[in-house]
Amino acid sequence: MRVKAALTCGTDLKAFTRGHPMIPMPGPFGHEFSGIVAEAGRGVRKFKRGDPIMSVHSAPCLGCSYCKRGVYNLCENIMASKVLGAYAQYVLLPRRVVRRNAYKKPRGLSFEEAALLEPLACVVHGLGPLNIKNGDTALIIGAGPIGLMHLMLLRASGAQVAMADPHEGRLRLARSLGAGKCVRASRERGTDVRRINRATGAITGGGGFDHVFECTGRPEAWEAAVDYLRRGGTVTLFGGPPSGTSACFDTHRLHYDEITLRGCFHFTPADVKKSYSILRGGKLKLKRIISGSYPLRDITKAFGRLSRGLGIKYAIIP
Ligand SMILES: [Zn+2]
Ligand SMILES: [Zn+2]
Repeated sequence: MRVKAALTCGTDLKAFTRGHPMIPMPGPFGHEFSGIVAEAGRGVRKFKRGDPIMSVHSAPCLGCSYCKRGVYNLCENIMASKVLGAYAQYVLLPRRVVRRNAYKKPRGLSFEEAALLEPLACVVHGLGPLNIKNGDTALIIGAGPIGLMHLMLLRASGAQVAMADPHEGRLRLARSLGAGKCVRASRERGTDVRRINRATGAITGGGGFDHVFECTGRPEAWEAAVDYLRRGGTVTLFGGPPSGTSACFDTHRLHYDEITLRGCFHFTPADVKKSYSILRGGKLKLKRIISGSYPLRDITKAFGRLSRGLGIKYAIIP
């Protein structure tokens, strides 16, 4: 595939600044992409040379014990064929990905937006089992790209959403995307919990949120997440903290308040399909989270801005 657009992502920023177990550095870099078929491999019937396509960077093997259980996102081999290296002119998509997780790009969708297929599939996967209903209340911790995509999908399901983040610019964007309440987080757990709970009382009636989505990957934020919930509420731990870290939770809250803590990781082909239809439908303002674009040679400028908290996501154009 000839790359037309590749997006920066939180995982890439982690790899760039502190290293990442699944993205060894130095090495091929970039995993959210869209482009044009440069050459179709033998036996490929779905696509031909010149087709604009959008794809994610992995696909399950269908043969391992997790795939046999239908838990495709935990496929033991999902990372074996993953595509890295989208910050380049070309990438090679393996058979498994082409077969299960690649789509023709609709004409009305830009290449930049089409490259959101992968991160959106991750968010779709996390939200899937929650069955969000009209009037549910949710707090999103972290107004980065993942937090903002949660916001848009939750709003589309009719939820009342509050957002916490240390960056005023991100909160402004969250507000314009439908967050009912935005709170500047200080990263001090005690102060934040008091302030956020007070500031969001109008949404929750003071009793806490039905849902909390942790989208920062900081263990302190994981721990604080339970303090925002109503009894019987659910925390979705989306952000991945550095390996080797741990988090501690109040046993009373988990037991007597029957709080659910759930992790979520990656996506299944069904999530990718759903992400594709959301993008094709064009109802969400997903392009608002793409803050600008840089030519490939200026990629370090994009990551420099992201590491200073400037912008949400950048498109890298080779
Ligand atoms: Zn990503
Ligand atoms: Zn598998």
